[in-house]
Amino acid sequence: MRIDLHTHSNASDGTDTPAELVRNAAAAGLDVVALTDHDTTSGWASAVDALPPGLTLVRGMEMSCIGLGEDGYPVPVHLLAYLFDPTNESFAQERERLRAERVVRLRSMAEQMAADGLPIDPVALMASVGPSAGRPHLARALVAAGVVPTVDAAFQDLLAPHGQYYVEKLDTPLRRAVEMVAAAGGVSVVAHARARKRGRLLALSDIRDLAAVGLGGLEIDHPDHSAADRAVLSDLARELGLLTTGSSDYHGSNKTIRIGEFTTDPAQFEELAGKATGVSVVTG
Ligand SMILES: [Zn+2]
Ligand SMILES: [Zn+2]
Repeated sequence: MRIDLHTHSNASDGTDTPAELVRNAAAAGLDVVALTDHDTTSGWASAVDALPPGLTLVRGMEMSCIGLGEDGYPVPVHLLAYLFDPTNESFAQERERLRAERVVRLRSMAEQMAADGLPIDPVALMASVGPSAGRPHLARALVAAGVVPTVDAAFQDLLAPHGQYYVEKLDTPLRRAVEMVAAAGGVSVVAHARARKRGRLLALSDIRDLAAVGLGGLEIDHPDHSAADRAVLSDLARELGLLTTGSSDYHGSNKTIRIGEFTTDPAQFEELAGKATGVSVVTG
């Protein structure tokens, strides 16, 4: 059994449509794939409709949250939420708030660039983004306009938190997010908790506190984790009785990683699916 529990379609910042994504998952020999777009479930229905025979789909999402950093200051954290009930009202309202927040923030960054004379059209940009507007959309517009050579270059300078155009977004407090996912019958897993190239790290003490309020697991085998960091997280998961997952964090052609390049142990997946009461997995 080959299981990849973290992928993005063009419902957020990937390049495959949800239908292409499930077809690519099957072509790559996966048995199980999770669709986990940023802060949106809008790709779920078309992924279900296009599900190839034999492939199992785990409906999920990757939430933008704020946790406690190792240095004692707030730090952005991604929380994977699996198999939750999308109609749970307080959770649905929070997703709506996050989506609106993303639109306001991206437009504001684009408008500031246009006001400074950069060749960015905020109206055209906002018309081109899908249901989950994000900095990658603006990065690609900057590349297309010849302002920067690559998406990475845009993220290292103009779009970076220390860059002059960066606008904060008001993400969900991590503890609140874990509680909301649990209340909606889902299972939460902290994504790439030791991905150092993304910046400062989440405090391990924060993970201990989250385990007490219903956190389900930790993503261990992720392309941005070193062997040493995987070992730290594995030890912590064992100590706290948390599930462990592995996943590619596939983004289509936006990143070089291939779908299914990192996978989850079948026993861990069975336990995760067994814990969820929101929606079931779907098999084509
Ligand atoms: Zn992430
Ligand atoms: Zn991701």
